[in-house]
Amino acid sequence: MNSKKFLSFFIPGGLFLLTAAALMRGRLLVPWLPEIVQIAPGAILASGILLGWRFNRSRLVFAVLMLAIADRSLLYFGQGGTASAKFIYNCVIVLLPLNLAVLSLLKERGTFTARGMVRIFLIVAQPLAIALICHYRFLAFNTYLNYPVFKATILENLPAPGLPQSAVIALALSLFLLVYGLTRRRGPMERGFAWAWVTVCFTLVTRSTGPVSTFYFCTAGLLLIVSVIEASYVMAFRDDLTGLPARRSLNEFFIRMGNHYTLAMVDIDFFKKVNDNHGHDVGDQVLAMVASKLARVRGGGKAFRYGGEEFTLVFPGKSVEETMPYLEELRIGIESSPFVIRSRSRPRKKPKKSNPVKNPRKKLTVTVSMGAAERAGQHGKPHDVVKAADQALYRAKKGGRNRVCT
Ligand code: GH3
Ligand code: MG
Ligand code: MG
Repeated sequence: MNSKKFLSFFIPGGLFLLTAAALMRGRLLVPWLPEIVQIAPGAILASGILLGWRFNRSRLVFAVLMLAIADRSLLYFGQGGTASAKFIYNCVIVLLPLNLAVLSLLKERGTFTARGMVRIFLIVAQPLAIALICHYRFLAFNTYLNYPVFKATILENLPAPGLPQSAVIALALSLFLLVYGLTRRRGPMERGFAWAWVTVCFTLVTRSTGPVSTFYFCTAGLLLIVSVIEASYVMAFRDDLTGLPARRSLNEFFIRMGNHYTLAMVDIDFFKKVNDNHGHDVGDQVLAMVASKLARVRGGGKAFRYGGEEFTLVFPGKSVEETMPYLEELRIGIESSPFVIRSRSRPRKKPKKSNPVKNPRKKLTVTVSMGAAERAGQHGKPHDVVKAADQALYRAKKGGRNRVCT
């Protein structure tokens, strides 16, 4: 499971970046680079804005806007040895990684809403301020950016000559923000931001210029676009509350599965009572708890949320008898781990007698009933197997619940 999570961090983002870097370093793209850097920036900016707006992912809109502004600033004003070019480069390397990291932490608040407008203003205000500073020749600001905060002996050994200390501090701070964000939310978009950040920092620290720099900025934009598409896929195929694959995933799973498998329907017992007595929030927490147990099913099984308080377990290549120990294990596991109601979730109706000091954390025992059916040979559609498992589940309920029937 952990290696899976680890892999999902690198795919597709890391793989994508590695491919782009390999193509660039191997000089495979050289013949097309002029065309690429002519078409890609506009295309990525336009598709990023369109996709972000239509999918309500304002962070994508802001990020591609930011990347475009930074890319054009570097291309038109940030090259060469003049004082203002150095100043602009320094500003970009201080501000862009920080902006990306902050953006990765922000919640969705819309693009063309009041809050979205404030964010756009903050993004546009930065290059405007820098342009004003350059225009009025306040280049003393460059000395501020280059102000030595700490003894720089460590920096001299870095493969990034002349990196201002303010940039090192900004990079460290943005890395901290990014990692902090990843510990809290780890969706495809957060991963996309992480890889875009890596791409941008790599480009700036290695002082790539001209078309190479533009190419990498486009890569960063593409990484973010891909992450939004991936997030939409996850939304469609993964259940938000429990984190399990949803019904749609089950239907896809049937297509890929062989002829022989066992399917079990799992239903929480008296779940309506949990909702009625403790509120919907507690009901949701119970669902998530049960789901987390089912997700750890052994014996090659895979858990899905079928809908409501019903789950499906599928064991490819196994007979009903073979799955019984694993189903029993899950049933007992759920029964024997009492659910602790967190104190902040309150029942809808106030209990007549309540003594929160004496009984601050109520315990709730949750049980499930299961019905299993098997498909062997050429006959029977997945739908029929589900039906048979449902009938077995019905028998389990009739027979007194908290049991597995076949
Ligand atoms: P039984 O033992 O016969 O299965 O009784 P039950 O109360 O579990 O069965 P029933 O199917 O009548 O109740 C299912 C309830 O599950 C009804 C619905 O309010 C609740 N439910 C369905 N989806 C959700 C959800 O996502 N969150 C919460 N909190 N409740 C849900
Ligand atoms: Mg039910
Ligand atoms: Mg039920």
